[in-house]
Amino acid sequence: MTTSNDIPQLASIRGAKQWLPFTPNRDFLSEPKMFTSAQGCYYKSDDGRTIFDASSGLFTSPAGHGRTEIAESVYAQILELDFTPSFLRAHPKSFQAAARVAELLPNDIDKVFFVNSGSEAVDTAMKISAAYHRARRDASRTMFVSRERSYHGVNIGGTSLSGMINNRRTFHGMMLPVVHMRHTWLPENRFTLGQPAKGGELADDLQRMVDLYGAENIAACIVEPIAGSIGVYVPPTGYLEKLREICTTHGILLIFDEVICGFGRTGQNFAAQSFNVTPDIITMAKAITNGCVPMGAVGVSEHVYQTILDAAPEETIEFFHGYTWSSHPVACAASLAALDIYKNEGLFEQARNLSPYFLKRISELASMTGVTDIRGFGMLGAIDIDPHLLGFNGYEWQKRLFDRGIHLKTTGNSAILAPPFIATQDDLDYAIEGLKETLIGN
Ligand code: PLP
Repeated sequence: MTTSNDIPQLASIRGAKQWLPFTPNRDFLSEPKMFTSAQGCYYKSDDGRTIFDASSGLFTSPAGHGRTEIAESVYAQILELDFTPSFLRAHPKSFQAAARVAELLPNDIDKVFFVNSGSEAVDTAMKISAAYHRARRDASRTMFVSRERSYHGVNIGGTSLSGMINNRRTFHGMMLPVVHMRHTWLPENRFTLGQPAKGGELADDLQRMVDLYGAENIAACIVEPIAGSIGVYVPPTGYLEKLREICTTHGILLIFDEVICGFGRTGQNFAAQSFNVTPDIITMAKAITNGCVPMGAVGVSEHVYQTILDAAPEETIEFFHGYTWSSHPVACAASLAALDIYKNEGLFEQARNLSPYFLKRISELASMTGVTDIRGFGMLGAIDIDPHLLGFNGYEWQKRLFDRGIHLKTTGNSAILAPPFIATQDDLDYAIEGLKETLIGN
């Protein structure tokens, strides 16, 4: 077994060479929380403990860890074809992977552009939107509308779109022209599981942006159908429908950022299907390979794709964008294997069937001291705590949970649960008991 002491000088802040992302580095190094292996729904920590993965890694691994099929497929792919230049050349598996992803997307969205992360997917979607309007000779549409308390990754486009202050404030002068609608958390909807009844009219904020800035200046409106990273804000009834209607009326593209929601998390392939609202563009990543290899993608409607292609002269590049690792053969092989697992094991259906039990169990925490709200949909849930009532905050809570054998992500004072779809009711019971005990302080 590897322990953190085996890793040279990890314990010393000066000795550690790695700079950790989105982590209080000094605190981490004073008390490292390390995983050394993973199987199914459980991680092993470096001190040999078994830790339930209540966040599916980072919303990445719904089929659980250590999947042999994906490992074998990746291994075989490296030996068969380890790399193909992504510009001017291609390989069959990328077309197969695109077709398999398109099968899962809503009917109107059937072109897939591969990238390597959710952040790249978001920035790519912004550039596709700009290219689409330019192709239509409507090039003044360069503004984007997003929402407060949203998370769209960390590249400059995604940071500009995001509505979480700590992710933005350092980079204020670098932000692109983005305006933010109000977020959809309302106190009167507290403790609602599923879609809240109140707040659909908040979508009228998009109309206000149109009235203020002019539709002729707005390229796209982007939202997470369920705002994931902030702590699972489920869209109020009628909200997404209203956004769709306003976008259609004013020629604004609607982008759903499904980096967390996609691939069964909401009980359907994508949240677009769960909420029965079809955007023009869908961004995705994370579970596209069950988290095994970095990969992201942008699903684009035929109309948007064709408009951009038709506007370019023959034999010229239609869209000046792409990454060295776009449609990497190994990522495509991992994705095909992951999508096979989802299909063969009926995992999205399993997520749908497990969801009522999951939501019922998290709702039990509503009566506990210090719990101020609980939200959830599909296999995604959040529990908010009041640090003043409890004497510890969300960051401290996730540390306590780790020590108690549960891994989950907290954002501020919200704990976000996104268990693997292969979790059993017993696994969920274990997580709920741990959440309860750590809140009481046992
Ligand atoms: N968009 C959404 C909705 C996300 O939740 C995330 C990550 O959590 C991203 C974009 C960024 O993805 P990545 O971390 O792969 O760049």
